[in-house]
Amino acid sequence: MTQTAIISEVAPRDGIQSITGALVSTDAKIALIQACYDAGLRRMEVGSFVSPKAIPQMAQTEVVLAACKRMPGLESTVLVPNRRGFDAAIEHGADRLGFFMSATAGHNKANLNRTREESFDELAKLVKDTPAGTLIRFNLSCVFHCPFDGVVPEAEALEWVERIVFLDPDMEIALADTTGNASPDQVSRVFRQAIGRWGNRFAYHGHDTYGMGVANVSAAWEAGCRVFDSAAGGIGGCPFAPGATGNVATEDLAWMFRRMGVETGIAWNRLLVAADMAAAIPGAVPGGRMRAVSAARQAA
Ligand code: ZN
Repeated sequence: MTQTAIISEVAPRDGIQSITGALVSTDAKIALIQACYDAGLRRMEVGSFVSPKAIPQMAQTEVVLAACKRMPGLESTVLVPNRRGFDAAIEHGADRLGFFMSATAGHNKANLNRTREESFDELAKLVKDTPAGTLIRFNLSCVFHCPFDGVVPEAEALEWVERIVFLDPDMEIALADTTGNASPDQVSRVFRQAIGRWGNRFAYHGHDTYGMGVANVSAAWEAGCRVFDSAAGGIGGCPFAPGATGNVATEDLAWMFRRMGVETGIAWNRLLVAADMAAAIPGAVPGGRMRAVSAARQAA
């Protein structure tokens, strides 16, 4: 029986958000989303309803989302940092709302300027108020390692996972390696425990800062995880996780799964087009390996 991995493309949000300097135009964002769509990707994090003053690269997310709604079968996630963003996302018809908080006190304070308890309480209300028919992705950042607090004790991370699990029986929960400093054995243990205790409702979001992005995805896959975030061209970073580089590259995951005989729905040749496009965005810091492997390019 062929197994399937679901890849949620995050270059349009996690990737572009971190580009400093020139603003990426709305047209360029839509063109990248179209290229990813043409490559077969049917899930994407396309923007964030944050104040454009706070994160200028995420301006006009409503225009981007409207363009996404013209791509049949595309499930669009938008990040929602607060009640105002929540209202905007619902008004503009987001398919899935992306909530986020950190498993560690230090990163939550730096990224969201509040305690974990405060974030959790606010998000619990948003989960409860999410209308039927709108999907949720609850992202828990820094599950494995925190730029401020170091390696996260597994019991502490799983305590937060447990609290989030009981907010809603259905919502997807992403365990995120925000800094890219998770190790595969740690990813494996945390996913095995989470899936063993609360079922297969988890996604993995990883960065490639330390070169362990693909190994960590493989560890999560072996532990039973089936949903993965990645960015075409490996672009990205996190302004509040100093030193973090891009997300694990979509083309690296696509190649790994292809070699493993796992279905992703991705057309390899078209994915390279999207990955090259992402890597060429002015100011983007690309990552990943596969764009530079000529034998793999010839496989297109
Ligand atoms: Zn990230």
